[in-house]
Amino acid sequence: MSRITFIPSAPGRWPEIAPEQWQDWTWQLKNRVSSLADLEKHLKLAPEERAGALLTGSKLATAITPHYFNLIDAEDPGCPIRRQVVPRLEESSYAPEEMSDPCGEDGAMPVPGLVHRYPDRVLFLVTDRCASYCRYCTRSRVVSGVGEQDLETDFEEAYRYLEAHEEVRDVLLSGGDPLLFSDRKLEGILRRLRSIPHIEFIRIGSRVPIFLPQRITPEFCAMIRKYHPVWMSIHCNHPRELTLEVKEALGRLADAGIPLGNQAVLLRGVNNHPDVLKELFHKLLMCRVRPYYLYQCDLIQGSAHLRTTIQEGLEIMDKLRGHTTGYAIPQYVVDGPGGGGKIPLNPDYIVARTGDRLVLRNYRGDIYEYPEASPQGVEGLGIKES
Ligand code: SF4
Repeated sequence: MSRITFIPSAPGRWPEIAPEQWQDWTWQLKNRVSSLADLEKHLKLAPEERAGALLTGSKLATAITPHYFNLIDAEDPGCPIRRQVVPRLEESSYAPEEMSDPCGEDGAMPVPGLVHRYPDRVLFLVTDRCASYCRYCTRSRVVSGVGEQDLETDFEEAYRYLEAHEEVRDVLLSGGDPLLFSDRKLEGILRRLRSIPHIEFIRIGSRVPIFLPQRITPEFCAMIRKYHPVWMSIHCNHPRELTLEVKEALGRLADAGIPLGNQAVLLRGVNNHPDVLKELFHKLLMCRVRPYYLYQCDLIQGSAHLRTTIQEGLEIMDKLRGHTTGYAIPQYVVDGPGGGGKIPLNPDYIVARTGDRLVLRNYRGDIYEYPEASPQGVEGLGIKES
């Protein structure tokens, strides 16, 4: 008998809400937990969380869908779900090696909102809004609308650029989260991209299936399948996020012929343990999702309390490889700090260790360094290693 279980999120802290309303994704968005008062109504906050919630309006907004909020342990500030979405005071401490744009995206935009870093593919940032906000978000400089920059995507200029660049065969829609658009608006983008003959492959990066599975309606799935091949990369970090509702939503996407991959981020106090990751990857396979990447957490400002070292990630991967099916083993990668693109974390790409730094090379042979000093500011938080 399988040990894997999928627990429903509903109704949890909202017992008075009718099932039809709970299933309405617009109700979920309207009723997000987003203020200190909202948080304190349901959770016993640690002083660091209380201070973080007071500061949050100036950097990255707080918003948590009721669906996702139900997964949080009310008593435990070390809860792995809570650490991903409840702000903490540590977010306001910036280490010298941290950056506001750790992947160097702003410098790789030929057109506002379109990142063209690799030869044959582009990243198209179509929105700055998400269903809930992850405290380690690589794009927190633009995401949620309260940070230091605005996302000023120029859609028409982006389409003209793509038409003129026949080498681009692969477009990744991201943001923010493209699945927050209405079906009509998202279909307009897909239709326009499909009118460009050399674009073969469309991908959507989304955390909505995890934060807001109600959004994955049969109508949405029917719309997407008109524009195949469309692939989707979801973002799930902990096995508890794979609820019954999420499993059903992922099943609808898979039934619509959308190949699904997962991009997890290795996070301290969330999933930095081989048993947690193994359970996550096994559950993903049960949901017809291939674990695709495990990301080293980017050097985003204010994320030291959530980062591990790469050495820790390598040791975790070593405990997974060969101990379970190869389909359950993602590729462990880091984005070369400052704009190196994705670098696989294996001996072919780790060039050297110098003191407290790893020296890495990307696919072009360019050299990047990642600091390996123990992250600061994580001691004394009472955080359980999950
Ligand atoms: S869903 Fe993605 S883009 Fe949105 S806050 Fe989380 S990591 Fe950032």
